[in-house]
Formats: sequence, structure tokens, C-alpha cells
Amino acid sequence: MELSQPDYPVRMVVLSADGMRPDFYRQPKKFGLKVPNLRGLVESGASAEEVESVYPSTTYPAHVTLVTGVRPRRHGIYSHLASLDPTEKARPWTWFARAINVLTLWDVVGASGRKTAAIAWPVSAGARITYNIPEIWDPAAPDPYRDLETPARHSTPRLFEEVLSSIRSALARAPRKNHQAAIHEMSPDRLRAEAALHIWKRHRPDLLLVHFALYDQLAHRHGPFAPQAVQAIEEMDKEIGRIRDAVNGDKSTTVVVLSDHGFVSVDKEAAPLVALMEEGLLGRTVRGEPELRRLGAIHAGGSFALYWLEEPTSENRRALQKAVARLVDSGAVGEVLDRPKLKALGADPDAELMLDASPGCYFSDRYTGPIVLESPKDRGTHGYRPSVPGMEAGFVAVGPGIAPGKKLGRIGLTQVAPTLVRQMGLTRSILASEVEPLDLS
Ligand SMILES: [Zn+2]
Repeated sequence: MELSQPDYPVRMVVLSADGMRPDFYRQPKKFGLKVPNLRGLVESGASAEEVESVYPSTTYPAHVTLVTGVRPRRHGIYSHLASLDPTEKARPWTWFARAINVLTLWDVVGASGRKTAAIAWPVSAGARITYNIPEIWDPAAPDPYRDLETPARHSTPRLFEEVLSSIRSALARAPRKNHQAAIHEMSPDRLRAEAALHIWKRHRPDLLLVHFALYDQLAHRHGPFAPQAVQAIEEMDKEIGRIRDAVNGDKSTTVVVLSDHGFVSVDKEAAPLVALMEEGLLGRTVRGEPELRRLGAIHAGGSFALYWLEEPTSENRRALQKAVARLVDSGAVGEVLDRPKLKALGADPDAELMLDASPGCYFSDRYTGPIVLESPKDRGTHGYRPSVPGMEAGFVAVGPGIAPGKKLGRIGLTQVAPTLVRQMGLTRSILASEVEPLDLS
């Protein structure tokens, strides 16, 4: 069957299911998952067997790859943290779009005179998005998901209030007394879906990006296949169904469900900062807390990046070699990636090296106790090299010109943005991406 590109503008709804492994929609029964809406999308659209993520396979670098089509080294978001200082208590994240070095989907769609919208999309604060509620929080807040004030302040003027009052009036129709409390009791994914539905109905954007993150949070805490995490995926599947139903009347709309990385179980936690402190690369204050010297560090679950903040002496370099050798001896490190290896992976150009954790192990920012702990706080993680089994992301697309049941095989995260731009009938040459769009027909 020949399916040609539609000759009218295509609207695009992109739903990011943070941390969703592709086997969750390919073989849901294997995990005891009930995801009828995801399955329905797979059957009526094109889907990837797996999507190769980026390095590190973490939310912020990967989401920027999704909207730019290039790897972190090119787009400039190398990690989730904006601070290289591991001694800082409440470290800011890379929330702001101004740190992205290349054009994004919202730039390209906006430049064509169309309307864009984003709900909790990573690295979108301050972006040129017509209707924007970015993901951002007070790093000192006890629970980022309960901080509604910071995203409100960084949203499109009046939009946050408009969305909240629309949710409140929906709640008012339900038998409840205290509506403010009800909003705070809603799951973050539910809130994000409600916001998306409101913006879709009221403003009808041409591009709508939504980020669902509850699965990621619970999969870190309880493990990727734990009942709590499975429940979050099933709840998200319902939100996906509600959004698909809302856009179904509009035949010119493409719905995409995708993810940024996969997830694996862990049973050990390793603390590189302990080894670095013992080798004198970080100091120790009189209160026993670490003190910054020449070495910066970022922990990202499956990986750990190290940075020289000043030109190191040969003694500094020897101390780093010793610390890394001790970490390797502890069994926590699967691979040490030096500058040439990081370049080949399209990763952080500023890192001196990155440690990739061994299977079952993840890195934390702990700086006391033994290097390796057998009973870790987290039960699941990601952040490893994209070739590590389980780190694959997912991609499913349904819409005009897309063949039902089409199998795309193994694709790359960098192929998503050029594909979406072409699907919207725009010229993809504006993007920095040089990869070919996927053939969805
Ligand atoms: Zn993520």
C-alpha cells in the first residue's frame, strides 16, 4: 500500500513517557502490564523495536536530543546538573533552554508561524514556546513535584493560573470540598495530562510536547518492574488514552509516544566521592563535609563524570589515576571512558573522563562510608552507555501517512526530530541534525 505525505499541515502531539522501555509496549504481558492504549497505538501506527539513547542516558540530555536531532556534544546539554560542584547542597539543574546550542523543534515550528506548547518538557524554561509550562523547581524544595510556584513563575504569563483554574472547575463538578488540596493530591502525570488537555482544547497548538515523569521517579525508588512502577505506567497509559481521544477528531494530527532512555534494576550503590576525597582530590571541612578543590563531578546513576576545574598538576593526575584504579578494583566500574571515547559517543566535551557503572551498580553523590554499599537507596537506574542492555528508549507514532503496524527496527534518538519536522511538512534542513528521517509510510 502506498501512503503519501499529506498535503495539509499536520499537528503534532508528542508524549514523553520518561524511562519507558520499548519492551513495555512490545511485550506488556511479560511484565504483567495492562497498557491497552499504548498497544492500540502500536497496532495503528509505526513503532520502533528499540531506540538508541545518548550518553549519559539521562532525562535532560536525551530530551534535548529528541527535539534537536543531535547528540549532547553538539546540543550542549551534557547532563542534568548545571553545577559541576559536588559539594554544593541544592544543585541547580539545566532547566533553561538558552543553554541549548542548536535550533529545536519549537524554534522550527514557531518560525513557520505556527503555535507551540510544552508541559514540563525538560530544558524548556525561558524557551520561545507559545504556551509553556516548563519543568523547573526550587532545588531546596523537599519534593520537586509539589513545587508549583517555581514552574508558575517561569510559565507563559497567565497560562499557569488559567490551567489551574480550569482543573479547579473540573474538580468543582466532582463532590469535593477543598479544591486546592485536591490539586496537590493529584499525581504529577495527571496534572500534566490535565494541563495538556486544557491547552489542546482552548488553544489548539500545532506542536504539543508533554513530559510524563512519575514512572521514572518510582522506578528509581522501587525498581523498574516493581508494582508501584508498573502502576505508574498503567496510569500513564490511561492519560495517553484520554489525550488520544481528545485529538482523535482531528485527522490531521499525529500522536507520538516516545521515551528518553530505558531502565535497569540495581542492587549496589557506589560512591566515587569517597575515593576522590581519600586521594585528596576533594578536601574535607572541619565538619567532615567535602570541600571543592580542582576536581568537579556529576553523578548520573549509571555514569559519573569528572572535570578538571583548573589545570591539574602531575600530582593531581596521579591522584585521579589512583582513585579510579580503586573504584575499578571495588567492582563498581564497568568501563572508564576517556576523552576520545567520549568524543566517539557524542558526549560531554568538558569531562576529563566518565566512569560507567558495572551491571547492577549505580553511582551516588555520597561521600562517607565504604565505596560500595550492598543495600542501596535506589532500586532502579539509567545513565549508562546507550549500548548497555536495558538502556533503549521507545518510539510509537500514529497519524496521517503513517502505515498501521509498521515496524521500524532499531532506530536512533537523533532520528526523531528530523522525522517529526518532515511529518509536519516543514523543511528539516533548518535543524542541525544530519541524520535521515524515518520512513513511517
Ligand atoms: Zn528520563
